[in-house]
Amino acid sequence: MSAAHDNFQYDFAVIGGGSGGYAAARTASADGLKTVVIEGGEEVGGLCILRGCMPTKALLYAAEVLHLASHASPWGIRAEEVSFNFSRVMARKNALIKEFAEFRQAQLASGKFAFIRAMARFKDPHTLELSNGQTLTARSFLISTGSAISPSPLPQINDLHGLNSDTALKLSHLPKSLLVLGGGAVAVEFAQFFARFGVRVTLIQRSPNILHEFDSDVAEALETVLRREGITLYTGTKLLDARRSGDRKEIVFEQNGQTVRAHADEVLYALGRIPNIGSLGLDHVGVEVQYGRISTNPRMQTSVPHIYAAGDCTGLHEIVHIAIQQGEVAAQNIAHPDRPRSMDYRLLTEIIFTEPQVAVVGLTEKRAHVRNIPYQVAKYPFNDHGKSLIMEAKDGFVKLLAEPLTGEILGGGCVGPVGGELIHEIIAAMAKRMTVHELAAMPHYHPTLAEIWTYPAEELAEKIKK
Ligand SMILES: Cc1cc2nc3c(=O)[nH]c(=O)nc-3n(C[C@H](O)[C@H](O)[C@H](O)COP(=O)(O)OP(=O)(O)OC[C@H]3O[C@@H](n4cnc5c(N)ncnc54)[C@H](O)[C@@H]3O)c2cc1C
Repeated sequence: MSAAHDNFQYDFAVIGGGSGGYAAARTASADGLKTVVIEGGEEVGGLCILRGCMPTKALLYAAEVLHLASHASPWGIRAEEVSFNFSRVMARKNALIKEFAEFRQAQLASGKFAFIRAMARFKDPHTLELSNGQTLTARSFLISTGSAISPSPLPQINDLHGLNSDTALKLSHLPKSLLVLGGGAVAVEFAQFFARFGVRVTLIQRSPNILHEFDSDVAEALETVLRREGITLYTGTKLLDARRSGDRKEIVFEQNGQTVRAHADEVLYALGRIPNIGSLGLDHVGVEVQYGRISTNPRMQTSVPHIYAAGDCTGLHEIVHIAIQQGEVAAQNIAHPDRPRSMDYRLLTEIIFTEPQVAVVGLTEKRAHVRNIPYQVAKYPFNDHGKSLIMEAKDGFVKLLAEPLTGEILGGGCVGPVGGELIHEIIAAMAKRMTVHELAAMPHYHPTLAEIWTYPAEELAEKIKK
């Protein structure tokens, strides 16, 4: 490890040891920078491992196993007394998370870089004040302090002392009924998890569809399934009030000009997250913040050239592999300013781990309309595909968007069985800038779910003659 230059204690100080921060520290220390990570959370591991991706996916998979076991009759299988032990469901999730967190803790304490347990804030552009009383200087910095649950739009909601995505993961007993506020990834994943474990779930969403950033046909395909599984969905709503009503909780909202009152034993607040940057002292150093998030250029550099930022604190995506890429890009640019790297969001992917899974990469029809990008589109449903019929997985479809003249694949969408896995074929195709003609000609094993992509690819190849 090289010595820090310019009398600074470190070449590079990383504030926050989550996914983005760890990726940056690993990259920088491998490139010879004298690096320190400062992590101030109660637990070490970051959001993805402790309270995000991993615990929620562990629970959703348990819900999938339960659902399959109790819906096995189409295959002639009788499983009449399917039951579950919620404590054991949670215990398995906890054991997995403990293992993942311990691995991350070992990585952070590996000695490849210094690791300090404290909260950090800027004292001046090259100095951090730590909550343990120390100060620390560095030539360059990365802010990777993640996100926090957004404040409530109605103060009355706080008075309900309901659940959020952190506390829902610690439940020891299931509520009988639940009102989910929000219609994004966290809301719909928890809604299906709870519903599949027998909770009567009502979801209340402001936009006309759940998953409002996705194409409406994609969102509607998932809405159909959630409704069929017994979830009550209210979309196009405006929250008016929240109060206790006896020992139940009540949310009052407007829908189609009518006032609606929904009651349940519990409320899950899932109205989004905001960058966690309030206590960093960014005003002391002049780091520019826009719409509550740290602004960066594509090299992940903030308005102060030696201070970089990565992950949820930069706000836009809240996707873990993006946080990792951003951390790596920042570290690479600090270590090798002569060989700068930039983030490229052409392959931006989003996955919702409900069943059916929802996955999109690149251009969507909604984004194409906003940006006025011409495209050709073709879709194919899972209810007309051999392997999905074998699996009784008939909901949803795949969709491909192509450049109208060249046939280059611009985007893909999938609502369907293991959609989060299937989308990776399109990510790979787009990474190599393949055309629909090339995708259609690529061999696909039969019978697989993946071969469904050949149908929209063939349709588009037929339309876009070369
Ligand atoms: C319920 C849920 C499910 C999710 N599921 C998925 C999923 O399936 N797939 C996906 O891609 N993404 C998912 N996400 C999002 C994903 O978890 C985040 O995008 C990702 O973890 C962000 O990483 P990060 O490094 O930016 O922040 P974090 O991992 O939050 O790390 C920030 C760290 O900074 C520390 N810190 C904060 N302030 C200070 C300070 N002042 N000084 C020192 N340390 C500080 C914190 O303690 C924390 O450890 C999910 C999120 C939630 C909430």
